[in-house]
Amino acid sequence: MDVITRFAPSPTGILHIGNARTGLFNWLYARANGGKFLLRIEDTDKARSTHEAIQAIHDGLSWLGIDHDDEIVMQSQRADRHRQVALQLLAEGKAYHCYCSPQELEEMKEAARARNEPAIYDGRWRDRSADEAPSDVLPVVRFKAPRDGETIIDDQVQGKVRIPNNSLDDMVMLRADGSPTYMLSVVVDDHDMGVNTIIRGDDHLINAARQSQLILALGWPLPRYAHIPLIHGPDGKKLSKRHGSQGVMEYAKMGYVPDAMNNYLARLGWSFGDEEIFTKEEAAQHFSFAGINKAPARLDFDKLNHVNQQHLMRMPAEKFVALYEVHRQTEGMPSLDEEQRHRLMFSHQAIAERISKITEVTHQASYMFTQSVDVENDELQGLINRDAFPAIANLADHMSSIIPFDEPNIMAEAKKVMTDHDLKLGKVGPTLRVLLTGQKTSPSIFQVIACLGADITASRLKLGLAKLSSLA
Ligand code: GLU
Repeated sequence: MDVITRFAPSPTGILHIGNARTGLFNWLYARANGGKFLLRIEDTDKARSTHEAIQAIHDGLSWLGIDHDDEIVMQSQRADRHRQVALQLLAEGKAYHCYCSPQELEEMKEAARARNEPAIYDGRWRDRSADEAPSDVLPVVRFKAPRDGETIIDDQVQGKVRIPNNSLDDMVMLRADGSPTYMLSVVVDDHDMGVNTIIRGDDHLINAARQSQLILALGWPLPRYAHIPLIHGPDGKKLSKRHGSQGVMEYAKMGYVPDAMNNYLARLGWSFGDEEIFTKEEAAQHFSFAGINKAPARLDFDKLNHVNQQHLMRMPAEKFVALYEVHRQTEGMPSLDEEQRHRLMFSHQAIAERISKITEVTHQASYMFTQSVDVENDELQGLINRDAFPAIANLADHMSSIIPFDEPNIMAEAKKVMTDHDLKLGKVGPTLRVLLTGQKTSPSIFQVIACLGADITASRLKLGLAKLSSLA
């Protein structure tokens, strides 16, 4: 049997990271088994579905690189088919018209609550004859669900889950205006799309019981279910607005990169061996239900930052620079010129080691992007060793004679000059850093010099020395 999974988001808000993880798990399972991963937009809730939310689903998935097979299915366009299935069940006596008014339903639930019983529909129209139907009420169509026994979901993650049938009521399949409900649409669409594996949040576990009753009534094969624990916030509580940062694209804006996001989301609730850092393509080679944890996963920004840094370091320099360029563009910053791009490419490793998000490149690598650096800042003055000025002036003069201009040669030359001046490199490093970067911290000073090149290094050193000398 070829595996067919699907991601079925409702476009009623942002693409939540929990949803994205569900999408990713379905993608991973399909790819791991050489199957298909389908996308269905469940836009039946007309009042709450928006174009922006549909766009957010596309943007989020495309940013993460979660590509789907076949045409996207828009659930709202299949309402006629959903209605047809409900009418078929009516004809077969497996569904019935219910004429309860909203007020009557409310009273029924109130009374059940008062008796300390589950507030569910009591099935009062289940066996009534059509002659009793009031002429002024438009009926809904309800499914005639089994009342005795239990429904067992043989879940790939949760194991055998037993739900007593008397805790589930006869669900509405068609509303009074004839519109199909989620519960009906999802069953019909999954069947018609050939979906045989459903991976989704465990908040859908009870829905699985209701849906499988309907599937059996229709004589269709049951899909394989895998209900995955939800993501919790760092405080261990169910992820909610209170925790902030929920939309996938918010993570893009914060400076996380797609490979890292997929890696982190995959590891939230799934693991294989001790592997921590991998791409989704690598994960797809190992993905199975056995690796899914039963306990809820906790969002941990320190871990996410670490994973992001590892991906920033692992990726090719061109990609690192390209991602940074995208960030500059979104922030309305000018794009890098050839020279700046080249410097960043050269320093990829040195910079990536010092940051966890791509947004931090702007600050960490600012010395490569500016014409000159500010050495007069008060905060830097404590780092400056004025006794080293003659040696530094001498080093500046030696820059053009370092060939090839690489880190080992630069270091050897710097050592030589400092020894001639009776100075240890350690006594000069911070001053060189201030002169070349205008910062307190940076990659190794020889890396910085190699990145800037002989001419810029020499001129920054000389100019900086002149400025600092005039400060004294
Ligand atoms: N549209 C539902 C949701 O976004 C998912 C339905 C399903 O996976 O069966 O929660």
